[in-house]
Amino acid sequence: MIVNHLVLRDFARNLVAAGGSAKAEIDIVADHLIEANLRGHDSHGIGMLVAYVKDFEAGTLRPNQAPEIISDSGTISVWDARAGYGQVVARQAVEWAIGAARTHGVAVNGLRNAHHIGRVGTYGEIAARAGMVSLHFVNVASGPPPVAPYRGKEGRFLTNPVCIAIPGTNLNEPILLDFATSRVAMGKVRVAHNAGKPMLDGALLDHDGNPSTDPGVMYGDQRGVVLPFGEHKGSGLALICEILAGAIVGSPTVQSMTPPERGIINGMLSIVIDPQRLNNRDSMMAEIDAMIAWVKSAAPSDPDMPVLVAGDPERATRAARMANGIEVDATTWGQLAAIAERYQIAVPT
Ligand code: NAD
Repeated sequence: MIVNHLVLRDFARNLVAAGGSAKAEIDIVADHLIEANLRGHDSHGIGMLVAYVKDFEAGTLRPNQAPEIISDSGTISVWDARAGYGQVVARQAVEWAIGAARTHGVAVNGLRNAHHIGRVGTYGEIAARAGMVSLHFVNVASGPPPVAPYRGKEGRFLTNPVCIAIPGTNLNEPILLDFATSRVAMGKVRVAHNAGKPMLDGALLDHDGNPSTDPGVMYGDQRGVVLPFGEHKGSGLALICEILAGAIVGSPTVQSMTPPERGIINGMLSIVIDPQRLNNRDSMMAEIDAMIAWVKSAAPSDPDMPVLVAGDPERATRAARMANGIEVDATTWGQLAAIAERYQIAVPT
């Protein structure tokens, strides 16, 4: 299916509404999911609604939650999202941190127990649009962990993403580094599995610990593992996410004592910095522009693939998908259509 983004957004709205969310929540969640599709991260797009519906039906995703403010010292706050929609509460938490950083120069928010916060880049974009630098460390505590630590062949992490955002200048769009600490996001394994496509080399081991490109190794009775990116470096960062966004923020970590069946739960540590407290704006922006130009001036190893900076691929994909529509694989579409039928929601044709 290739679907116009507005049509897909309406479909997503109707599916979120089936869980009883208020209008503002429906809009934020649906917009977030379709924006992830537009930016090329189908792993975090409309297909996530299959899991969200399962979770709101099981009571592990609780629509219409207001966060509980555990503490707030003005520059540091801790919020408990109480398993509410992560897209809503994480946005509110980052907006709080932007306001506090504007006043104090820097702010830190610890977010506990959010249901899936989605594409973490969303929060970096919000901060960058406000002229702020932001860093986000996220852990994921839900179900059996599929990501092996370096040298391991058993899962010990989920895909624990990190996002770092730098505001744009007059010449350049924001730099938005936003990635899972696994070689690929788990949702991309799901999308490849649904589409019957192989995964890239170096991303998976089967249950015996042998390298594999078959996404099916993650769905059989005996499961394989996803590898961390960058060997010991990604594995180290995944552990740091567990510690910063889990143990230190007070959200569950993924270790064996945490009950696994709790829906998709994210913890997040966000640090928002007003860069103008560190340096003069004009010289900082000139330096950023010069640095981006310098990086992009490197001769490409493949002439058809120029050097980019983080955020560029998503902007290019967005422009293409706004114009040409968003492709949804047949399995995902079938799953969404089955849910829609149960809730008597019209499926776009
Ligand atoms: P990815 O491997 O596609 O990497 C994306 C990052 O790399 C982006 O910053 C992108 O701009 C940059 N990038 C890609 N190609 C580039 C190039 N040629 N040159 C320069 N930069 C380039 O992303 P991923 O690891 O699959 O993660 C996908 C999404 O999944 C992210 O948005 C992440 O936040 C999200 N995620 C969320 C959770 C959660 O629990 N909420 C868990 C895991 C991942």
